[in-house]
Amino acid sequence: MPKRLVILFFLFFSVSLFALSDGALLHKAEKEFAGKQKSDIFRAYNDYKNLYLRSIMNQDEALKIKALQGIVKSGTKLHIDVTPYKKELSSFTKRRYVTQRPKKSKTSKQIKKVKLKATNKLRLVYWKKGRLVLRFSHKLRKHQVNYFKLYDADKNVYKYVFDVEASMMTRSQRLVKPGIRSIKLAQFKPNILRIVFKNDSVVEMHFKVTGKELVINARPTKVSQASGKSSHVSAVSNITSPSQRKASQSKTIVIDAGHGGKDPGASGYRHYKEKHVVLGIAKYVRDYLKRRGYHVYMTRDRDYFIKLRNRTKFANKKKADLFISIHANASKNKKAKGVETYFLSPSRSNRAKKVAAMENKADIDDMNYYARQSFLSFLNNHKIVASNKLAIDLQQSILLELRKHYKDVTDGGVREGPFWVLVGAQMPAVLIEVGFITNPAEAKRLASKKYQRHIAKGIADGVERYFIKNR
Ligand SMILES: [Zn+2]
Repeated sequence: MPKRLVILFFLFFSVSLFALSDGALLHKAEKEFAGKQKSDIFRAYNDYKNLYLRSIMNQDEALKIKALQGIVKSGTKLHIDVTPYKKELSSFTKRRYVTQRPKKSKTSKQIKKVKLKATNKLRLVYWKKGRLVLRFSHKLRKHQVNYFKLYDADKNVYKYVFDVEASMMTRSQRLVKPGIRSIKLAQFKPNILRIVFKNDSVVEMHFKVTGKELVINARPTKVSQASGKSSHVSAVSNITSPSQRKASQSKTIVIDAGHGGKDPGASGYRHYKEKHVVLGIAKYVRDYLKRRGYHVYMTRDRDYFIKLRNRTKFANKKKADLFISIHANASKNKKAKGVETYFLSPSRSNRAKKVAAMENKADIDDMNYYARQSFLSFLNNHKIVASNKLAIDLQQSILLELRKHYKDVTDGGVREGPFWVLVGAQMPAVLIEVGFITNPAEAKRLASKKYQRHIAKGIADGVERYFIKNR
């Protein structure tokens, strides 16, 4: 495709995404599709893709089918591989078909007979030096243990849940440990054993899988005076753990310092450059998170250029649980100030579009790549919701921390925007604008190590808050 067409295509893509109503856009696409020029068909293809996006955002199944049909017919004319869309489209038609005739055939009987996986069996449960040991019949693999946390804010109950791919022969059991309100072990699903620790304060949870055993070290942070009479339970003080790490230790975070190298990002007061400021903050975030036991990777830890798409690619490769991109904002209005946190969505507001346009400047090829490859794959509702939650937790924690030390900290709020650097991330992903580098007062703060540390601590707190609330 000629370069000019690529740019046109992209501009068109970004403009048309926001302007027209669904019906009008669909009508426009149909007209374009009927056109004689290849570029007409291309525009149609692009509009159908935008409609597809909207259908995902709005959970509009009827629109999705129309959009998919459009993508398939226009894409085919353009010799674009539309196999995934074809598949999705056929899943709709199949679904209809199945509901129409739920007839039992030989094959469905065969499916029912699917051999039960030989599951690992729980053999023994006991306490050893205050640690809960579960021994199984076979070697346990790490991926067979799924650990997550829940926090019920209404009841102020912390839940720590272990799902183990195994079965137990006995009924559910209750276990006792001083300082922890309840521990329950039960068969949650035919092949999933569930252990739930409930408490009204935070429990530091450590666990490891060794051979046939799962060993859980649950350390209540506040030991209640009342409990602790059962003799088979060793005293809490016997628990020795060299590590002070929090329970979120198994999480991996990718910190992305925006821009770098030939791309300085925004520059403002006294020619401070965004790429330097954000790298400083990103390094502090890394240090804080590492100290708290997270696995942390940085897309860059020096001043060099990285393509936007390689940043999320990196996070995907590291199987990160979160992706946090750090940026500084700029405005012609020197008075503009404040911290903002963005999550990805085809944004509606002009404000978000402006910020995104600035951050998206990297290079047009990158964006074209996204437009074709990744945008659609990212935008599912589940990830948008998770990213939105993460953005809220980060924004709140940053403000909380900054306001302890500085007067006059502006809450720019949580916003959504079409940021290409977040596109393609397979995990909750956000972009933080830590302040305006064009505002003299804020720029001075941003350049100071002290402020960088405080804001980094706020970000680290936000990550913690997010994990306590979500799994
Ligand atoms: Zn930036």
